[in-house]
Amino acid sequence: MKSTVPFALAAICCLAVPAFAQDAVDPAELQHIMAQHPDWAPWLADPELAKLTLAGPKMPNSNWRADDIRRPQPVPVETGKACSAPPPADAEVLFDGKNLDKWTGDHFSEWTLKDGVLTTGARVYNFLQTKQSYGDVQVHVEWKTPLQPKPPLNPQYRGNSGVFLMGLYELQILDSYKTQTYPDGAAGAIYSQSPPLVNASRPAGVWQCYDIVFHPPHFSGGAVAAPARMTVIHNGVLVQDNTVLIGATVHNAVGHYEPHPAELPLGLQDHGNPDSHVSFRNIWVRRLNPG
Ligand code: MG
Repeated sequence: MKSTVPFALAAICCLAVPAFAQDAVDPAELQHIMAQHPDWAPWLADPELAKLTLAGPKMPNSNWRADDIRRPQPVPVETGKACSAPPPADAEVLFDGKNLDKWTGDHFSEWTLKDGVLTTGARVYNFLQTKQSYGDVQVHVEWKTPLQPKPPLNPQYRGNSGVFLMGLYELQILDSYKTQTYPDGAAGAIYSQSPPLVNASRPAGVWQCYDIVFHPPHFSGGAVAAPARMTVIHNGVLVQDNTVLIGATVHNAVGHYEPHPAELPLGLQDHGNPDSHVSFRNIWVRRLNPG
């Protein structure tokens, strides 16, 4: 089934300025940042990435710019070893390792299912999406970023994927263990909007869990009457606390709302980075009735 959902959203990657900052990269500031953060310097040396993370649009929900590397990094929090558990009795199992019967997509066959694990392909912004549509939901997703002996310089190319609520609102997936990117692009971030409260990431190659509560936006007369909200627990740690979304996910821009149906499919992102495939297991959803 071909969806009409606008899955062309680019939940991408990379790096935005506080209210005092400029609309172009200040060379002196860039050099200062590179000197202070040698681990960022290799990718900040790319003028496009420097512009992305230092001169993005000002955000309406903070004093920072979109994808701003100057924003305070979320504090690392080590977590326990496990988070996987059988689905609750009233959950709809979306993926249990046996088949992809609940899923579809424009390039469906480029995702692989092997040994009970679902893995992204290598096509940029190739979305897998559920056949069913959802509104208010609790979602459980287990995911794993790959071990890479030589990770790509751009931290946004390290195990980048995402859980797209309604195919529009991205909870970022990334290898964020002891590696830094712009905070609103790290694991646990509502991409390009809201960094995680802390960095609860586990190392690459280790399974991690997202437990998500999502409430969709409500529209009235073509305008948003109530914004979307998202709560996220990452590996047992709260990283989004009923966070208000400013709109649909966009990259290095200010998201906004366009009226859409009350229920839409859930999506998983293939960011399309070679040799940095992300794996999934144990995905389930519970429909919520907010009353
Ligand atoms: Mg992503």
